[in-house]
Amino acid sequence: MKAKPRIGIYGLTSCAGDQLVLVNCEDELLTILEAVDLRSFVMAHSDNPEGELDVAFVEGAVTQESDLETLKDVRSRAQILIAIGTCAVWGGIPYLSGMGTPLSDHVQVDYAIPGCPIEKTQLLKAIASLLRGDLPLSLPHPVCLECTIRENNCLLQAGEICCGPLTAGGCNARCPSLNRACFGCRGASHDPNYVSARQILEKHGFSVNEVRQRLALFSGKAYEKEGTQVG
Ligand code: SF4
Ligand code: SF4
Ligand code: SF4
Repeated sequence: MKAKPRIGIYGLTSCAGDQLVLVNCEDELLTILEAVDLRSFVMAHSDNPEGELDVAFVEGAVTQESDLETLKDVRSRAQILIAIGTCAVWGGIPYLSGMGTPLSDHVQVDYAIPGCPIEKTQLLKAIASLLRGDLPLSLPHPVCLECTIRENNCLLQAGEICCGPLTAGGCNARCPSLNRACFGCRGASHDPNYVSARQILEKHGFSVNEVRQRLALFSGKAYEKEGTQVG
């Protein structure tokens, strides 16, 4: 990768929350802007020369023809395409309504950063890896691991249904750490132990279908795929 990678940041059908995470990186934003050649960021930038890209970050789901045209155009110009946010990675809430599909249904996605919105720390680590010329490392663990490391009391034991066993980690177990159950906003974990998760949930009186319904709110697409079935 060149000394100053050419970066583009795009939004399809979305709430722009993931792009705002980058805008809100107040302490780091100037450093990032000095290190990259920002070719497109319509939300924050009026001068967008576009052209060839080393890395494109794309937020949102594909819900209309114009999204698909934008996505295909960006893909054709970008060496690396990164889906940011659960809508882009799994279809998110637009998928639940039957109107939206994830980026990977249409083009090759090289790396995915889930979250609703994405976590600032994961985004900054990904940018740092890309500036070094590497693809960022995936986070294969579920939220439960981070919850355990933080020594939280498990909410299942308190009678609350929690999606942490099957949800992608990376938020440092934000919700359980605030005594709120995880509702799965980061989508499916790469490597959940389904048998164990099922046993744990059923031991505490919850059915697998209850969990699946909750997880479908953000990543229904994930739970339709073979091999990611919970039941
Ligand atoms: S994943 Fe969440 S924050 Fe990102 S575009 Fe979708 S709804 Fe907005
Ligand atoms: S089920 Fe929820 S509360 Fe329990 S350890 Fe996992 S994430 Fe934490
Ligand atoms: S704990 Fe669950 S719902 Fe809360 S931010 Fe993390 S993944 Fe999202």
